[in-house]
Amino acid sequence: MAEMAAAAATVVQKYGGSSVADVAKIHTVAEQIAATRRAGKRVVAVVSAMGKTTDQLMKLAHEVSAAPDRRELDMLLTAGERIAMALVAMAVRDQGFPATSLTGSQCGILTNDAPGGARIVEVRPFRVQDALDQGQVVIVAGFQGTSWRREVTTLGRGGSDTTAVALAAALGADCEIYSDVDGIYSADPRTVPDARRLDHLSHDETLALARAGAKVLAADAVAYARLHGIALYARKTGTAAGESVVRVDAPSLRPWVVGVAQRPSAVLVQVPAAQAAQVQSIVAAFGLVPVTELAGATYGVLLARDVADAVDPAFDQALAQLTAAVGPQGLQRGTLVSIVGPAVGREPGLSQQFAQLLGHWTGTWLAHGLTLSALLAPEHADAAVRLLHRHFVVGEVAA
Ligand code: ADP
Ligand code: ASP
Ligand code: MG
Repeated sequence: MAEMAAAAATVVQKYGGSSVADVAKIHTVAEQIAATRRAGKRVVAVVSAMGKTTDQLMKLAHEVSAAPDRRELDMLLTAGERIAMALVAMAVRDQGFPATSLTGSQCGILTNDAPGGARIVEVRPFRVQDALDQGQVVIVAGFQGTSWRREVTTLGRGGSDTTAVALAAALGADCEIYSDVDGIYSADPRTVPDARRLDHLSHDETLALARAGAKVLAADAVAYARLHGIALYARKTGTAAGESVVRVDAPSLRPWVVGVAQRPSAVLVQVPAAQAAQVQSIVAAFGLVPVTELAGATYGVLLARDVADAVDPAFDQALAQLTAAVGPQGLQRGTLVSIVGPAVGREPGLSQQFAQLLGHWTGTWLAHGLTLSALLAPEHADAAVRLLHRHFVVGEVAA
């Protein structure tokens, strides 16, 4: 094809589960891919499993077995993305463009062999490049790779974002993340109606927001993008409306509190320092990454489930072992409510304001990096998020 000259720019577009949830949405994605091709770009589209497929497969596995084998669980979960990739490829072909779907393994996404949450160690995208050179649109199954032992692995919940970033880095391409929201907001727009879109963000701010629970971008994907200096464009599928751009040289930030987020199903484990090693080894054995840790006479580790209301065997089994090791009184459960921004650790009086605002809800406070968090009873979390947003984001801009 004439316009497929080697110099044509390549773009990696990622379409999340909500964007491919049904037939009509798959057609919208295919039309958008076709429009990008007509604009002269080479397209790699990474897709997630349709809608809530991953949650449903996880639930099904736990109906079949009380403790599903983790290798077989990965094998099962990767099927969700394979269904979506084939359907999207068919729909793109119907738009008049040759398209081919590839699994993570076929794309050369090589990972370590940690089941359920593997890390990408290398990307060898030869088949993707060959297909692009032949004028194909390449549709990639997100959230999966293959280990050096040639086992199929998954990249952790929300991991299709990481697939997209890793392929963009390997191909020298732009990375566009499409979901059901037109960018990264100062709070989840579902909870905070006056949340505002953040046009430019640094990787550090975005990573802190993601870790605090703003699920629009997966934290691992942002960390990968930061490491490789990849810019991310967060947009809404099917609209040319606004976007958020995450990039290395994001203008240094004006509102000092960038956003407010919440992470349900958080647990703070606190033990005397002598028991720290025991707790740490349980956390590590289940592949959990702490949100933060505090060392001193008392050791504390803050953990949070990746997807609040979904089955998460590693998290639940780790909690059962931790409860057995430290006793139920050593565990404090709740929803983590956080403000995120450069003000944390730099603005005198910030934590005092934070504590005063949340004062009528008892909770534990902690600052980590760009984030100041409180662990609250779940029923207070939405109100707390709205209050913090009003004070620190809306109030700050108005001031
Ligand atoms: P996808 O299925 O495309 O991966 P996700 O469900 O993972 O999409 O992420 C999009 C959702 O993230 C939105 O529907 C929105 O409710 C939620 N969300 C949470 N916090 C934020 C935020 N700060 N900005 C934008 N969206 C957010
Ligand atoms: N389907 C996987 C999940 O639900 C990966 C993704 O959506 O990015 O976590
Ligand atoms: Mg997502």
